[in-house]
Amino acid sequence: MKNLETDRKTDLLRPEHDLWKCKAADKYLLNISRDPKFLLPLSQYPKEIELEGQWHRRLNKMRGDSRDGDERGELFGSVDGNVFFYLPLKGNNHEVFIEEAIDELRQNGKFDVSKIIGLIHSHPNNLRERILRGGKKQALSLFDLYLLIREGGIVRVMALAEKDKNLFMLCSAETKTDEKNYNQFFDFWWDEMLGRNGDDLTNKKKRKTLPSFFDFNIAISAYYKLVLYVGKPNGALKKIAPA
Ligand SMILES: [Zn+2]
Repeated sequence: MKNLETDRKTDLLRPEHDLWKCKAADKYLLNISRDPKFLLPLSQYPKEIELEGQWHRRLNKMRGDSRDGDERGELFGSVDGNVFFYLPLKGNNHEVFIEEAIDELRQNGKFDVSKIIGLIHSHPNNLRERILRGGKKQALSLFDLYLLIREGGIVRVMALAEKDKNLFMLCSAETKTDEKNYNQFFDFWWDEMLGRNGDDLTNKKKRKTLPSFFDFNIAISAYYKLVLYVGKPNGALKKIAPA
């Protein structure tokens, strides 16, 4: 019987399944916390992922709490075969607080930092406004994306509870890492995106419309081989990129 059960669980992750039911996503996350070699190739990510209730409860709470203008966040990882959430975070300096949280965990030694899988978070008002100024679509910040691809990074999944959407960006087996520091990454991608827009980088007056943050999400996920899912609150996540 035990084997049958195991087979059934493994079966949930076979590529021909276009929809992962609730437990499949948790099972997958636990596998990659054991060993990143369990990351699936891009082609094997399903079109849709249903999340277990605990994810929606956390994402919805974060969305609600962030109405005060501050962001919220929680790292998640695995403990004793379950997905576990660490350290509720609150703040408004997106880029510092995630780094500090990981350092805090490293120092307190109570959790094995290598078992961290990712972060769920919301955005502070100031960042959301910046993102929406460059386009109407909610999106991950450049720093969110950087954490997924930086050399030696431990974040494999970056989840965002936005006002009326959940966004999940995940690493794949093919994800490329980058040795750039964050400033270099930021400058590189701004130049890259402005160049793609046909802008003359040497002449600010000749710049056309600025790329949106969502454009950055799509371009960066394609370059580094990440997978992007977007879903409504309480709804299934649908794969947006690669299309
Ligand atoms: Zn973010």
